[in-house]
Amino acid sequence: IVSLKDVHKSFGEVKVLRGVSMDIQKGEVICIIGPSGSGKSTLIRCINALNDIQSGSITVEGIEVSDPKLDKLALRKKVGMVFQQYNLFPHRTVLQNVMMAPIKVLGQNKAEVEQRARDLIRKVRLEGKEDAYPGELSGGQQQRVAIARSLAMSPDVMLFDEVTAALDPETVKEVLNTIKDLAADGMTCILVTHEMGFAREIADCVYFTDRGVIVESGPPATFFDQATDPRTREFLSQVL
Ligand code: ATP
Ligand code: MG
Repeated sequence: IVSLKDVHKSFGEVKVLRGVSMDIQKGEVICIIGPSGSGKSTLIRCINALNDIQSGSITVEGIEVSDPKLDKLALRKKVGMVFQQYNLFPHRTVLQNVMMAPIKVLGQNKAEVEQRARDLIRKVRLEGKEDAYPGELSGGQQQRVAIARSLAMSPDVMLFDEVTAALDPETVKEVLNTIKDLAADGMTCILVTHEMGFAREIADCVYFTDRGVIVESGPPATFFDQATDPRTREFLSQVL
């Protein structure tokens, strides 16, 4: 469903991605881990065309993301993204936040969108908070609204970039549980995360990036217990 082939990306002179290839199947959950500055955020931003690439190719369900004539709206319908900062509209309620994109971007019928938005709010376990404003919610609750807002566009793939990094430890778990529910429903998920326990539990495949390359990848059981590359082992020894 998502395929990267020898992707190179620089910011000016700085080479951030130096030949990244990945193949992600429908329904797979993959976790990307690695040191700060290794290019994790850049990598997933490239999948969503928020960053352009210098060479190589990225396709999402047959859409060539690096095509200069890319139909960004078609891509946005397929790929949802959630960031560390939830960026909700502060003067709109939870329900309005979740309803906005399908109405404004896709021009969908309000009544239908509202029904789906209410279902999604239930799905992220925020039933009863429909009329609350973001400022009245905890960080974890706001992040779950951000996830529901992304899901409202009915994406086929969800990208998560350190979505729990800014949260209090108590609320991290509720957000991870929401992602777990999504994965169990068969959503294809690409996550950048520092939550190693979560990666071990949920991922079909873990990728370790360092200085713009994928150093090592594999199913969690092998990856965490039998990593062979010294850089991976060094990183794991610091975070596990
Ligand atoms: P972290 O774990 O800290 O989030 P990361 O692995 O996500 O790190 P990136 O944000 O992808 O790392 O950044 C990789 C490199 O690219 C860094 O050296 C960063 O300074 C550089 N970089 C990222 N975005 C830009 C930009 N818009 N302009 C210039 N350089 C950038
Ligand atoms: Mg990052």
